[in-house]
Amino acid sequence: MKVPMVDMLAGYPPIKDEIENAVKGVFNKANFILGEEVAKFEKEFAAHNGTKYAIGVANGTDAIRMALIASGVKKGDEVITSPFTFIATSETISQVGAIPVFADIDPVTFNLDPKSVEKKITSKTKAIVPVHLYGMPCDMDAFMALAKKHSLIVIEDTAQAFTGKYKNAAGDWKYLGSIGHCGTFSFFPAKNLGAFGDGGAVTTNDEKIYETLKQLRNHGSKVRYHHEMEGFNSRLDTVQAAVLSVRLKHVEKWTEMRNAVAAKYAAALKGVCVTPVVPANARHSFNYYTLRFDSKAKRDAAQKYLTEQQIANQIYYPIALHLQEAYAHLGGKRGDLPVCDAVMDTVFSLPMYPELSDEQIKVVTDAVKKAV
Ligand SMILES: *Cc1c(COP(=O)(O)O)cnc(C)c1O
Repeated sequence: MKVPMVDMLAGYPPIKDEIENAVKGVFNKANFILGEEVAKFEKEFAAHNGTKYAIGVANGTDAIRMALIASGVKKGDEVITSPFTFIATSETISQVGAIPVFADIDPVTFNLDPKSVEKKITSKTKAIVPVHLYGMPCDMDAFMALAKKHSLIVIEDTAQAFTGKYKNAAGDWKYLGSIGHCGTFSFFPAKNLGAFGDGGAVTTNDEKIYETLKQLRNHGSKVRYHHEMEGFNSRLDTVQAAVLSVRLKHVEKWTEMRNAVAAKYAAALKGVCVTPVVPANARHSFNYYTLRFDSKAKRDAAQKYLTEQQIANQIYYPIALHLQEAYAHLGGKRGDLPVCDAVMDTVFSLPMYPELSDEQIKVVTDAVKKAV
């Protein structure tokens, strides 16, 4: 049986009318640029996350870039982040003139390891960008403590983790992206809250950062043709905002369905390979479901077999950032970040979306078992 990685259309029929009406509303008003649907969605998104502000932007990459600028990251600053993420996390750091510094990851959560981060802090360090990889919450208490101790900014790359939650030491459950100085989000179709095209957002509780972001996304201007700074053309599209407002109402249910799929995967694969271990103080958003094998040979064999069976699979990510050609100038090599090197050689991700059926789950897990 063919099983896709994601099925964007599986969840569409129940909300089709609602979405199409919302889109028609924008077409009929023709308020395509920063129409009222954008402000409406921003309010709803901030309320969902429990932050004071949300700013809709063109995509999740711009969200990181503008959050860095609005938080005061400048040319020559060092920004510590994970080597085990999509390049958007680090290319934006370089693009604002700062230097990405890669620290090692945790072997269980695959997220940035606070102990490794602390070792990389220098007098030039300005910010930390933890990434909630696959939807797995980072150890935010540790990062916030480091930030306080060293006066650093924390920007949470929450592109894969909207609806994920973290319980802090005080016992409060917080949505991911609402804990650091800024949280950045992507509405790329395959993310937890996907638009019907590109989209992104930044959340913050800091009014000054919020005001700066509002200017940055619109050519540095508050009033048309008055530019207090240079900015970007990076507004959230009004049609996408209308779609997102509808989908936002369903996203919690979808995350529950993803968690149910994950539980079935874990039960079926017990003892076969390592399945995600979600800490007690975390809610995973399961944007991706990632397995770890005890050797590269086993991982590669499993991947080959699933591909032959037409079961979609993907390695997120086959080459860690410190080993990418784009970062050759930083001099990274195998052995520098040993946990990351070992993890990237032994993981791969299974199909994951809310509507995945029991039959599909069985086909996928039987194939993994057979391959191992
Ligand atoms: C998807 C993603 C981004 C970028 O989001 P876009 O909307 O595609 O620009 C950034 N960081 C991570 C970890 C992502 O997965």
